[in-house]
Amino acid sequence: MEVFSTIVDVRHALREERRRGRSVAFVPTMGYLHEGHVALMREGRKRANILVVSIFVNPTQFGPSEDLDAYPRDLESDLAKCRGVGAHVVFPPTPAEMYQGTPRTTVTVEGLTQGLCGRSRPTHFQGVTTVVTKLFNIVQPDVAIFGEKDYQQLAVLRQMARDLNTPVEIIGAPTVREPDGLAMSSRNAYLSPDQRQQATVLIRSLRQVHALVAQGEQDVGVLDREVRGLLDQEPDARLDYLSFVHPDTLEPVDTVSAPTRVAMAVFLGPTRLIDNILVTPGAP
Ligand code: AMP
Repeated sequence: MEVFSTIVDVRHALREERRRGRSVAFVPTMGYLHEGHVALMREGRKRANILVVSIFVNPTQFGPSEDLDAYPRDLESDLAKCRGVGAHVVFPPTPAEMYQGTPRTTVTVEGLTQGLCGRSRPTHFQGVTTVVTKLFNIVQPDVAIFGEKDYQQLAVLRQMARDLNTPVEIIGAPTVREPDGLAMSSRNAYLSPDQRQQATVLIRSLRQVHALVAQGEQDVGVLDREVRGLLDQEPDARLDYLSFVHPDTLEPVDTVSAPTRVAMAVFLGPTRLIDNILVTPGAP
């Protein structure tokens, strides 16, 4: 495994691999890696000859009052995990390396970025789409793997790659969870033991919606009230949003009469967590 912190070195190493006919899989991350990231990396290993992992806490996707400075970092442990999975190249650039000079160009995906997380994080997705475009241009992967945990991000990046004819296949990988169902996230490290227990309210809510839909409930108003009832029982939990959307367009629906993504964001104290599931009427 090689670790390159400069764009020039990554390009040079990958040019050589490509010249030898090797395909490249790419997993972009913000580090503090956990089993969710590891699952993406394993998928990457299966889908191409060379696995590239980037580790970059991208400042432009954080809002002014968000947790950029507090975001957990542990490069040594991350590199050990990358090595364990058999990554070939790890790219942990500095912000100065990624944003040289005064950038005047951004990438924006319209529409899909306005609802869900876009409502409370209005500048977030432009930061994501711009940095992922830059990373794609640096790594030039054949496939890139993203987690369904960040479902809106996955939908936005699929749209972006389609719209810009980026020669990369975008793969979505299932959410990896703790034994009690909490979606793994680097931000779980912020939770107090008490908040950590309360945090299962996200998956409990989503599973409750799933069960009700399986029993025939289709009214989003009813499902919404059910979730709010569960959240009311957790003293530190505050709902940011609960949305029922079309899986591709992310347009809100008011009846679950077709496969629907149910997505939510919940604050536990200052920590904002997200999760989502697919529900299909009549399906067990
Ligand atoms: P992050 O480091 O949080 O920016 O995440 C990097 C990639 O890992 C993104 O594609 C995420 O969707 C994905 N990811 C994060 N948590 C999970 C999880 N629990 N299961 C699967 N993928 C995840």
